Amino acid sequence: KDVNELGAKHNIYNQNMKLRFWQSAEMMRSFSSALANREFIVYYQPKVTLSSGDVVGVEALVRWQKKDGKIIPPNDFIPQFEQTGAIIKLDFYVYEEVLKQIRNWVELGLDIVPVSINLSRCHAENKNLYDEIMGLTKKYNIAPKYIEFEITESAFTHNAQYLIEVLTKFREYGFNISMDDFGAGYSFLNALYEIPVNILKLDKGFLKPSEVSAKQREIIKQVVVLAKNIDLNIVCEGVETKEQAEFLLGIGCDMAQGYFYAKPMPLEDLKHYLNNQKVKQQLSKS
Ligand code: C2E
Ligand code: MG
Ligand code: MG
Ligand code: MG
Repeated sequence: KDVNELGAKHNIYNQNMKLRFWQSAEMMRSFSSALANREFIVYYQPKVTLSSGDVVGVEALVRWQKKDGKIIPPNDFIPQFEQTGAIIKLDFYVYEEVLKQIRNWVELGLDIVPVSINLSRCHAENKNLYDEIMGLTKKYNIAPKYIEFEITESAFTHNAQYLIEVLTKFREYGFNISMDDFGAGYSFLNALYEIPVNILKLDKGFLKPSEVSAKQREIIKQVVVLAKNIDLNIVCEGVETKEQAEFLLGIGCDMAQGYFYAKPMPLEDLKHYLNNQKVKQQLSKS
C-alpha cells in the first residue's frame, strides 16, 4: 500500500513538473507574440519633491494589456519572465519605448521629464547589458541625464562584480542609478559604497503599517541622514497619506512617489497630469 502511495505521489510530482514545463513553454510563446503585437504598455508614475510637490521625474512601469483589454500587473508575469529570461528582452523593449517617448518630447519642444527604468536582477547574467543600453541610447540620441536605472539589491547576490563594472560605466557616462526597494530584505551596508548608485529608493514597506512604530520612524530617519551624508539622493516610495508626506519632509527626505501624489498612469493621462501641474504652478506664482 505504502509503495502504491509513494508511486501515486511520484506520479503527481511528475505531472506537476510537466504541467509547469508546459505552462512556461506556453508562457514563452505568448510572450513572443505579445511582444510582436505590442501588448506591453508603459505606465508612468510621477516622482515629486516633497517640499513643493513639483514633478521631478516619472517611473516607467510595464503592464500587459491582453487582446480583450484586460490589464495584467507586472507582479503577475515578471516572476515567470525572470525564470525564463524573457525579462531581459522586455526590459530593453520598455527602455526603447521610453526613449521614443523622450525623443518625442524633444521634437515637440516640450519639457523633458526624466524617466526611471527598472532593470531586472537577471541582467547580472546578461553580457549584452552595456552594449544594448548604449546602442539604444545612441539610436535615439537621448542625453543620459534624463535616464535613471533602478536596480534592486537582490541583483547583487551573484555576479556582483560584473554588474558593478557595467553600472560604473553607466554612471561615468552620466546615467543615474538608483537602488530600488532599499531595505526590503537583502540590505547589506557595504552595498552603499560598493555599488555605484547615486539615488536610494526606500522600500514602500517602511511606510506600510498604518501605525509606523517609533522604532521604524527612527530607522527611516537615520537612513535618510546616512544617505544625505554620503551624497545620495533619497526617494521614498509608497507614500499614501498626507501624514506620511509630512513626516518624510520633516526628517529631510528629498523626494517621494506614491498614490498620495499619483498612481501609475498611461501616457495620455500623464500629459494631462503634467499640464495641470504647470497650471497649478502658474496660479501659485500669480
Ligand atoms: P517597483 O520598481 O518597486 O515599482 C513601484 C511599485 O509600487 C509599482 O507597482 C507602483 O505602482 C507601486 N506603488 C507606487 N506607489 C504606491 C503606493 O502609494 N502604494 C502602494 N501600495 N504601491 C505603490 P507595479 O507597477 O505593480 O510594479 C511592481 C513591480 O514590478 C515594480 O516594483 C518592479 O519591480 C516591477 N516592474 C515593473 N515594470 C518593470 C519593468 O519594465 N521591468 C522590470 N524588470 N520590472 C518591472
Ligand atoms: Mg522601481
Ligand atoms: Mg523595481
Ligand atoms: Mg521599488
